[in-house]
Amino acid sequence: MVRITLVRGDITTEHADAVVNAANSSLLGGGGVDGAIHRRGGPEILEACRALRASHYGKGLPTGKAVATTAGRLPARWVIHPVGPVWSRDEDRSALLASCYRESLRVADELGARTVAFPAISTGIYGWPMDDGARIALTTVRETPSSVEEARFVLFDERAYQAFAEQIGPSETG
Ligand code: ADP
Repeated sequence: MVRITLVRGDITTEHADAVVNAANSSLLGGGGVDGAIHRRGGPEILEACRALRASHYGKGLPTGKAVATTAGRLPARWVIHPVGPVWSRDEDRSALLASCYRESLRVADELGARTVAFPAISTGIYGWPMDDGARIALTTVRETPSSVEEARFVLFDERAYQAFAEQIGPSETG
């Protein structure tokens, strides 16, 4: 079973086999984690995203799907780019958010990644309420079979860290 750990910090400095982005369907970068990953990882990541777009995703990568690229200069081997859903008051998009975590684990398995660092997908610019985003992240990662040994949630601020810590209980934090 995958070991879940929580840390507070900046995902672009995490040493892990794979770092997960919170991408958008253009795959061409954006704000938040996406911007930080491209800034620190360097232009190789964007080049790889562009190539994937040109070869497979001319109309954009669908929400809930994920692809992998090099991690460029990040201290990781790969970046996995899932496209998170924008939160909606009128429509329940939870299945798409869960799909981001499931797809990321599937891609991690394909790559042979054993340690995977995740941000709280969709809880920034895309507006997902943090508590609910944390619940979906943790339950989905727990329930998805994979060869990943450690899923490390890297929470950018205290509010995010607390939301995850409350959902997970005291035993798995650290
Ligand atoms: P989305 O568009 O999917 O909401 P964001 O990048 O705006 O993506 O935000 C997702 C989450 O990542 C938010 O909780 C935000 O605070 C957090 N975040 C932003 N920058 C970083 C970073 N460098 N490392 C880890 N988490 C980050």
